[in-house]
Amino acid sequence: RAKEDGRNRLRLYDLALHQRFLEETALEEALRRALDNNELRLVYQPQFDAKDPTRLAGAEALLRWQDPEKGPISPGQFIPLAEKSDLITKLGRQVVALVCEQVGTWRAAGLNPPPISFNVSPKDFRGGQLASDLLRTMAQHGVTASQLQVEFTEGTLTGGADVVLKQVQELHEAGIDLAIDDFGTGYSSLINLKRLPLAELKIDKAFVDGLGKSEHDEAIALASLSMARAFGLRTVAEGVETPSQLAWLQAHGSDRIQGFLLARPLEAEDFSALLLDFDSTT
Ligand code: C2E
Ligand code: MG
Ligand code: MG
Ligand code: MG
Repeated sequence: RAKEDGRNRLRLYDLALHQRFLEETALEEALRRALDNNELRLVYQPQFDAKDPTRLAGAEALLRWQDPEKGPISPGQFIPLAEKSDLITKLGRQVVALVCEQVGTWRAAGLNPPPISFNVSPKDFRGGQLASDLLRTMAQHGVTASQLQVEFTEGTLTGGADVVLKQVQELHEAGIDLAIDDFGTGYSSLINLKRLPLAELKIDKAFVDGLGKSEHDEAIALASLSMARAFGLRTVAEGVETPSQLAWLQAHGSDRIQGFLLARPLEAEDFSALLLDFDSTT
């Protein structure tokens, strides 16, 4: 009896696993098609000066995918999938193309966007082509280094460190700011803060969530802010949702704020409207 139960459970488990495999394969195929048909787009989440949250200081470009049948699929779902396959290379190139094209379009329209930060996957750093691809695409669209910033997570530094460091160095030498994303959530060593030419440290939403609630999260946020200061890095707190989180971050000296409290990620047209507003007030 017990043995039979065990076997049934095992069978159920196999089925669930198989089901997941089929779903992932289907999603991967859909993503491949979406990439080929340019169905992915970028949205732009504004970042504000913490001291004066009416001042637009930057923005993060975030991918969006709307599948004709499945509806919107979140990057939290399709990025890890792309990273498991070869699709991430294609996806990474598309993000570079989209962000350069958009910044070029804004500039051509006489708008003056703040630096636009975009996310780069570990595999794209390890591929060894990132810096040259990016610089070429920037030149095509007349985009300069100060108009962009590259974000990467701590995981980027584990494995293939030499290739990665070379890419980081090339981007830095080209004048592109580098930001360490989701700081404190990955496997990494603090020595990266010392050996990498970083411009910015992003405090992850996981810790911002706990501000005013969890002593431990506050301790991590404080330590991150003070280390960033010691290394001369700008700080951005992401996922700020409440006025009390904002107040905490202002009181403890975070430089910039990103979160639904101030703005959601915006479609490019809506971001243009915001730029027009800011241009007329400054
Ligand atoms: P991330 O780089 O840490 O991006 C911040 C995420 O937090 C975004 O989620 C953003 O929409 C969300 N967020 C910002 N403020 C708030 C808030 O106040 N509340 C809540 N609940 N969420 C907030 P999103 O767009 O779903 O992206 C998730 C992750 O997917 C990103 O995390 C990034 O790791 C990855 N990703 C997104 N776009 C790209 C891309 O173009 N390339 C690569 N390689 N990864 C990307
Ligand atoms: Mg990011
Ligand atoms: Mg982040
Ligand atoms: Mg995050």
